[in-house]
Amino acid sequence: MQDRGFHIITFGCQMNVHDSQWLARAFTARGLAESTLEEARVIVVNTCSVREKPEQKVMSTLGRIRQLRAGESDLLVAVTGCVAQQLGTEFFEREPLVRLVAGSDGIASAPAAIERLLEDPTLRLSLLDFSSHYIEREAGAQGPCGPMAHVNIMQGCDNFCAYCIVPFTRGRQKSRLSDAILSECRQRLAQGAREICLLGQNVNAFGRDSHGDGLSFAQLLRQVAALPGLERLRFVTPHPKDMDAEDVAAFADLPQLCPRLHLPLQAGSDAVLKRMGRRYDSADFLRLVEALRAARPDLALSTDLIVGFPGESEADFQATLDMVRACGFMSSFSFCYSDRPGTRASRFLDKIAPEVQQDRLLRLQALQDELGQAWLAARVGGTTTLLLEGKSPKPGSPDTDGARLTSWQGRDPYGVPVHVLLPEQAGLEGHMIAVNIVEAKKHSLLAEAVGETW
Ligand code: SF4
Repeated sequence: MQDRGFHIITFGCQMNVHDSQWLARAFTARGLAESTLEEARVIVVNTCSVREKPEQKVMSTLGRIRQLRAGESDLLVAVTGCVAQQLGTEFFEREPLVRLVAGSDGIASAPAAIERLLEDPTLRLSLLDFSSHYIEREAGAQGPCGPMAHVNIMQGCDNFCAYCIVPFTRGRQKSRLSDAILSECRQRLAQGAREICLLGQNVNAFGRDSHGDGLSFAQLLRQVAALPGLERLRFVTPHPKDMDAEDVAAFADLPQLCPRLHLPLQAGSDAVLKRMGRRYDSADFLRLVEALRAARPDLALSTDLIVGFPGESEADFQATLDMVRACGFMSSFSFCYSDRPGTRASRFLDKIAPEVQQDRLLRLQALQDELGQAWLAARVGGTTTLLLEGKSPKPGSPDTDGARLTSWQGRDPYGVPVHVLLPEQAGLEGHMIAVNIVEAKKHSLLAEAVGETW
């Protein structure tokens, strides 16, 4: 393509990060180098509409780009992802810099569209249609990856939870064909990945639509776990109502499946769960947690929680606190409810005052901090295995023999960042090493290597 490079700004979830990484590889395969916001000819803003004020965030980012790059007529700005899907061609009117709008399914064609736009500066393009099937992306764009790889297994969601915009922005559920998933996993492992995380908005509903090839989620887990070279397997984000006995059994049977599960609870009150349209109640959730812990006694759970959903009473909120305690979550993402256009909850009239929401959020987060720190502290003195990601920004120190040690960061099987001092030595990235945990920090652990296992 051109020589001045591309720059991608990413908002939102792991799916968006994954999409941005794929876009970067697709641009690189077309000869475009990664560049800075100040220099790049192509700037992509990959948007998310799940968190608060998504539209304002995107518009202010576009405003910042306009100021920074004023008067540069060959600049090409593209908006992709959920907000692009939502606002569509409105972007062309609101921000003249924007020449491409690509929604969730349109991202697959964005690199080719950008190529066309670079050739013809008079064009503007929109890629907003939902496809009737899972769109495979250019495999040629799958360049090198780190020790941890993300592999998409499905797109969209059919659940229409009352507060959620995903079914509108990402479209209806479409499972990917298992051959394509397994072949991408094999490719990632051949490129040096040791850990694979399977991604989907409702990941464990994989196979339960008319687009897959009949393989269930649990069967897929078993097939991926059996791939040579795979050390760790994770998946995100499952829906509690879709966790069946086979999924639970996978935690007992597959040592590669990490003992950490992110299981969104959203609220502890049955009345609120019902209004949210989650299709489980607190007793169902607790039964599931019990079954998972019976299958995998060392399992740690994390969750998502919405505070101040319309109509939530103080007693409802207390039920959330009770559930958080009962489940002993190691961590959680918690947010105050806010409207997303077009969702059912946006039309509920009994909204909770922002100051009440904020007060509840702080109380919930204080409880979660307590639980999270207790969980980390309980790990001190134990041993674990780290998958080394790279050198950490923390300074090194001389060891007892005077040789220089460097601080490395790795992840344990729970996905917790762990810092460990190792000799200055190239090529440790991607190694698995055994460590003793010596100290718990607020969100991470410090450890010492066990012998010279690297
Ligand atoms: S399961 Fe509910 S919260 Fe999750 S993506 Fe689907 S609609 Fe949104």
